[in-house]
Amino acid sequence: QKAPVTVTVTGAAGQIGYALLFRIASGQMLGADTPVRLRLLEIPQGVKAAEGTAMELDDCAFPLLQSIDITDDARVGFEGANVALLVGARPRSAGMERGDLLEANGGIFKPQGEAINAVAADDVRVLVVGNPANTNALIAQQHAPDVPAERFTAMTRLDHNRALSQLAQKTGTGVSEIQGLTIWGNHSATQYPDVFHATVAGKPVTDLVDEAWLTSTFIPTVAKRGAAIIEARGASSAASAANAAVDHVRDWVLGTPEGSWTSAAIVSDGSYGVPEGLISSFPVTSAGGAWEIVQGLEVGDFSRERIDASVAELSEERDAVRELGLI
Ligand code: NDP
Repeated sequence: QKAPVTVTVTGAAGQIGYALLFRIASGQMLGADTPVRLRLLEIPQGVKAAEGTAMELDDCAFPLLQSIDITDDARVGFEGANVALLVGARPRSAGMERGDLLEANGGIFKPQGEAINAVAADDVRVLVVGNPANTNALIAQQHAPDVPAERFTAMTRLDHNRALSQLAQKTGTGVSEIQGLTIWGNHSATQYPDVFHATVAGKPVTDLVDEAWLTSTFIPTVAKRGAAIIEARGASSAASAANAAVDHVRDWVLGTPEGSWTSAAIVSDGSYGVPEGLISSFPVTSAGGAWEIVQGLEVGDFSRERIDASVAELSEERDAVRELGLI
């Protein structure tokens, strides 16, 4: 067995937390040979429910689960964290302005960044799930100056998985036949799922689908899938979001399969014209515990326009949190 890994989950008592913790504790995120120590961070009102979830985790008798600690203090919650999943966030309520949303989340992600900086393990890897995920990740990252910036990431893997599934259904194939799909930009309605480098069983996707399907069906279906699930289920997607978080961390820590890439929002190094420092989704591979942006992809006009629009939104969010003094 490998050394135990400390995993901190915030918003642990929420819907996504409930779907996520059992997957982590069973070894699906870090591998069947890696013991896990869970640290659950909640707001004070969430602590009791988190204790209930911890009782259920106990009752699963997971062989890999070494300990569970529950706290409402970020300095305790992130103590020794090797992996931090920031799920708890302030959702947008009816009538809430974007500035108010960013400010409320600044109040969560600034102290969490500071706590990660102060008490997490040197190798800490952070995935932000709570929305607005990219900008929340940026806020936390800016308050953790001693942690390499590239250790802060935001989740677009659910969008990636949704795009895979839509494309598989459209082309009558299995998801494992599809390679080369990318989500670009912000995890929001402006995100751009790009199929121009994708292949299905080795054939270019552009030979199999037309532009009308891309613009009128595929792109909006992927971007609005969250709302469609709320409409159908009466609750937001939770198990699929948790699944995507597991996929993201597993690929980051254990590596992406040879010859294939995925999507993750990571700190831009200026690639593909995305301003340096923005946390934006890219085509990425992982090896040795680090993400790398897939380079050299040709970006046509259709894609350029959409990538630029989503990246412009990220720049606006960064300007807004700057003006609010949050970074
Ligand atoms: P969920 O567990 O359903 O969602 C948590 C966050 O994930 C939300 O910000 C949500 O954004 C986001 N999210 C990202 N992708 C998705 C997706 N595909 N589908 C659904 N959600 C997605 O929320 P709950 O309200 O059930 O639970 C939140 C928990 O967090 C509560 O227990 C609360 O007490 C806690 N919390 C903890 C904090 C802390 O630890 N400091 C701070 C704030 C809250 P969106 O709303 O936009 O869908």
